[in-house]
This record gives sequence, structure tokens and C-alpha cells, in this order.
Amino acid sequence: MRIKGNLLAQIFIVFGIAIILGIIFGPSIEVIKPLGDMFLRLIKFIIAPFILASLVVGFASTGDPKQLGRIGAKTITYYLVTSGIAVTIGLVVAFMISPGKGINISTPEAATQVNETDGVIATLLNIIPDNPFTALSSGNILQIIFFAIFVGIAITLVGEKAKPVYRFFEGFAEIMYKITGIIMWVTPIGILGLVAPVVVQYGISVLLPLVKVILAVAIACLLHVVFIYSMAVKTFAKISLMKFFKGMAPASIVALSTCSSAGTLPVTLKNTQENLGVPRKISSFVLPLGATINMDGTAIYQGVAVVFIAQFYGLELSVLQLLTVVLIAVLASIGAAGVPGAGVIMLAMVLSSVNMPLEGIALVAGIDRILDMFRTSVNILGDASASVVVAATEDGLWTDDVNK
Ligand code: ASP
Repeated sequence: MRIKGNLLAQIFIVFGIAIILGIIFGPSIEVIKPLGDMFLRLIKFIIAPFILASLVVGFASTGDPKQLGRIGAKTITYYLVTSGIAVTIGLVVAFMISPGKGINISTPEAATQVNETDGVIATLLNIIPDNPFTALSSGNILQIIFFAIFVGIAITLVGEKAKPVYRFFEGFAEIMYKITGIIMWVTPIGILGLVAPVVVQYGISVLLPLVKVILAVAIACLLHVVFIYSMAVKTFAKISLMKFFKGMAPASIVALSTCSSAGTLPVTLKNTQENLGVPRKISSFVLPLGATINMDGTAIYQGVAVVFIAQFYGLELSVLQLLTVVLIAVLASIGAAGVPGAGVIMLAMVLSSVNMPLEGIALVAGIDRILDMFRTSVNILGDASASVVVAATEDGLWTDDVNK
């Protein structure tokens, strides 16, 4: 089931209505919050089985470890390069807008907890699940990817005897796509329940002093999308930008409303396959990986936040510190989970890498939901652009099919 134009229009209209309802009804609009929670649960419950089934089928039908290596290398290179560019754009825009100069807000109590991050080796080892069923039940995406790729490749190696298992996963994957399609129809209701309460939460008095930070994040996100993703999609995939952005519009709005790229994953998968023609084999690998490790919006935010906090405290950043910020922000965006507010937690890592006061986090934490809306949309668009680029340079896009 393709996302029909009228559903997209409904989603846009509901978004506007949610804002208006939030303004009119004020705090009492909280009563519709359960609708948003219901939608979140609906899209979350299919993630683990969805990734498992579509990746097993994807890799069982290729069965070519060389291609797997190539797709993996291209994807990771794309993710790293674009994330590095994203922090840089964030830093440059923030220096131009100077969000932290001349503002007067009291430093809130440092409600900051520094997250202990595992070492690199432990993180890499952790991709191998102790127990695949635990990985599935806890929704550990990287571990599910690992397990699914192995099952897929082994199915091909086993041959005839594994055919029933292949057919099982093939049917199961179809069922997951169908469920996603059904859930998409309640998206407008979900968006209403998610967006309206947020409008109430952020009155003008909270937003006004930090309006330049919001502006800097928004502009940097826009520049990144307009220049970097558009250029990549145009150069490698040669599809029209209109088609790319329109095709990804439902996922972008769901990301904006849920602030979770992992939660948006079923919609991102569906949009890239059905609207952009990315083969399942590629989208079901590139997108779950991206929802876990590729967060360009989060990287942009780290860049802007560092400059803002430095300016607020009157600190100068040396070239070496800026380079450290680029490197650590890329790592932070890789380490951030695709859930609401993950970026603000990872900011602790970036600030401490350049010895800046962690209390600065409390300054931006108050408006995090707004910033998260921008960064999550960029995060999923980054993943989608990667899937298009990798597909175009591997098996090609199913553009004929899509054009039908
Ligand atoms: N909410 C973002 C995401 O899910 C992560 C972040 O907080 O930056 O992609």
C-alpha cells in the first residue's frame, strides 16, 4: 500500500490543527496525549520483527558476502562523511548567528548527568548478541541486524533444506509491511496527540531568550538537507529532488512529531521502498543501521550547542578545540540512541572533551523538544538519502516500478 497523496495532505493539515488546538485549549489539551502514546506504541511494536524479517529475506536473496561488504563500506563511509560535514555546518552557522552573545538567562541548576559510555572495543563486541532472542525482546537494533544478516547468508548456504525458513520469513516480512501500512492510517490521530501537548509546553517566555539557538539549529539543518542531501541524491541517484522530499514527507513529519528516528523506522522503510524505489535488501540494511548510528541532525545540534554555551560563558574556542568538537560530536551522534532527548545527553561527552562547563546543558535542555524535532527529521532524511545513494550505485532503484 503506497502512501497516498490524501494521507500526506491529512498529515499536514492535522499538524496545523494540532498547533491551533494547543494554543486554544492550553494545558487541558493534555487529555489527547494518550492518542500520541498509542501511535508511538503502534509504530514501535513492529520495529524488531520488521527488521529481522526484511533483513533475513534481503540477505538470503543476495547471498553474496562481497556485496554485503561493499554495501556496508559505502553506507558507513557516507554516514561518517555527512556527519562530519553536519557538525561543521552547525559550528559555522552558530558562529555567524552568535546565539550565546548578549543573552541574559539565569543558569538553571545543573540537572546534568554524565552518561558513562562504553569503550570502543566493548561497544563493537556488543554488536554480537549473547542471545538473539534477548536482542529481539529488548529491541537492540545493531544486534538484530547482526543476527539477521547471519541467518540470511546461512539460508543461502544451506540451500534446499532452508527453503521453508526463507519462505516463512518472506511471508512474515510481507505481513510486517502490511501492518505498517495499516498503522499509517492512524498517523494523523497520532500526530494530533503528539504535537498539541508540545505546543502548550513551550510558551513564548521559554522560547524567546533562546530563539537564536533555535534559529541556528533550524538554519543549519536546512542547509545540510538542501545542499548535502540534495547534492548526494542528485549526483548519485539522479532522481528528482521533488520526488525525494515528497516521498519522504510522511516519515519526516512522523520524525518531527515523535522525535525518535528509531520509532520512525517502519515509516522510513516504507517510504524509501514504495516512494523512492529503494530495493528492500538495501533499505532494510541501510536504514536500521542509520537509525542507530547516523544522526546528522544530532551532530549539527552538538556544533551549535557548543558555540552557544562557549559564548554564554565567554569562553574562546581554539582551532584544536573546534577540531576536537567535530571528532567527538561525530562519535556522540553515532553513540546517541534514536530516541527523544538522546542528543542532549550526548552533549555532555562533547562538552567534557573540550573542558567546557556541563552546566551549559541545562541552558538548552529546556527547549530540547523543539530542537529535537529538527534534528530527528534531519536524522531520518540522512538515512533515506544514504539508502538512495547506496541503492543507485548497487542494484539500482526500482524507479520504473515507482513511476507506474
Ligand atoms: N531524537 C533523535 C533521534 O531519535 C536523537 C537526538 O536526540 O538527537 O534521532
